Amino acid sequence: METSKEMEIKNIPTRASQKFRNFPMVPRVVFGNGSFDQLGDILLPKRKNSDAPIIFLVDDVFEDSELHARIPRIFSDQIIFISADEEPKTQQVDALVRQIKESFQEMPSGIVGIGGGTLLDLAKAVAILLNNSGSAADYQGWDLVHRESVYHVGIPTISGTGAEVSRTTVLLGPEKKLGINSDYTTFDQVILDPELTKGVPKEQWFYTGMDCFIHCIESLNGTYLNAFSQSYGEKALDLCKEVFLDTIAEEESRNKLMMASWHGGMSIAYSQVGVAHAMSYGLGYQLGIKHGLGNCLVFQYLEEFYPEGVSIFNEMRKKHQIDLPKGVCAGLTENDLDAMIYIAMGMEPLWENALGPNWKSVITPAKLKSIYRKI
Ligand code: NAD
Ligand code: ZN
Repeated sequence: METSKEMEIKNIPTRASQKFRNFPMVPRVVFGNGSFDQLGDILLPKRKNSDAPIIFLVDDVFEDSELHARIPRIFSDQIIFISADEEPKTQQVDALVRQIKESFQEMPSGIVGIGGGTLLDLAKAVAILLNNSGSAADYQGWDLVHRESVYHVGIPTISGTGAEVSRTTVLLGPEKKLGINSDYTTFDQVILDPELTKGVPKEQWFYTGMDCFIHCIESLNGTYLNAFSQSYGEKALDLCKEVFLDTIAEEESRNKLMMASWHGGMSIAYSQVGVAHAMSYGLGYQLGIKHGLGNCLVFQYLEEFYPEGVSIFNEMRKKHQIDLPKGVCAGLTENDLDAMIYIAMGMEPLWENALGPNWKSVITPAKLKSIYRKI
């Protein structure tokens, strides 16, 4: 039975569901080890005047690092260090925007996000909300942003999410975990410097890298697949296999994973993700489990949907001796599980991509519960 709330989600008008999507791409990108040092030159022509600062939103793992000293901060620029322990929230975006508006008389010349998907998404959202009134929660959905965002730059320091290329910023709001999907979300500039990913801990490297691998599997096995998505998805999948199954030099591995993330993100731009992502959103909303780990926790039990993908995933996991946490959903009440299932089943486009228009004949609350119970 459908509740009225479910109907509401379904009826969101979305340009993203149009047959031919006219979607933006990152117009400028620099690639290469050490390319971070070009940031100062890149920002210079974007500076409106000395009172319109550049705001750097930086993952706080870099607070005591040499990268901190290399940030090209001049005039009234501000560096704000932010923890990535929790995924970005709409209230956090609102607070940052308020803080920036109170600190400066002029609108910033630009926002630079330095970090993983968490910091990249925060930078995108802050850039949007500086120029659009209200709360970030008002814009969660598809094409609800109507004014251009402030110039924003993304500099990934861990590879896999594809957040550096995507037209969304995923936020946890008071009612839902959902992206701000808009033409104004995409970065104006990206700097891909694989050296910045040097310090990533092994487990995190694997989880975020698997986000990319799962993007490929879900895109390539989806009903929305087309030559555009396939071309990027196949390339990203090949790169993931080289990185996680072959034995290659560390530098090469960093370079390749950064490009895999880019291509994986491009692949889902013109298709969709699938079952693992839909269910991972439920884990994220209810338990605060982060995106990469959540995807892995779900994906291991999806052999029924992605037999080949799960078998490669298990091979990769063995090779890198990754033990996934167990009993994650053990303490959950029936109510908790129902809430997760509600979130997961609300991700209609993901299910439709994964299983076709009749997905509801395969995916029922009971089915999802049985998978969550295993996790
Ligand atoms: P993250 O940004 O959450 O970072 C994970 C951990 O790695 C953090 O502890 C962080 O401090 C650490 N870290 C990052 N770079 C490091 C470095 N160079 N050295 C040492 N530690 C480093 O991780 P993520 O997996 O990249 O991002 C997850 C987020 O991305 C989620 O919030 C998810 O919703 C979002 N996401 C967004 C999109 C999109 O298209 N916008 C797509 C997928 C995921
Ligand atoms: Zn993902």
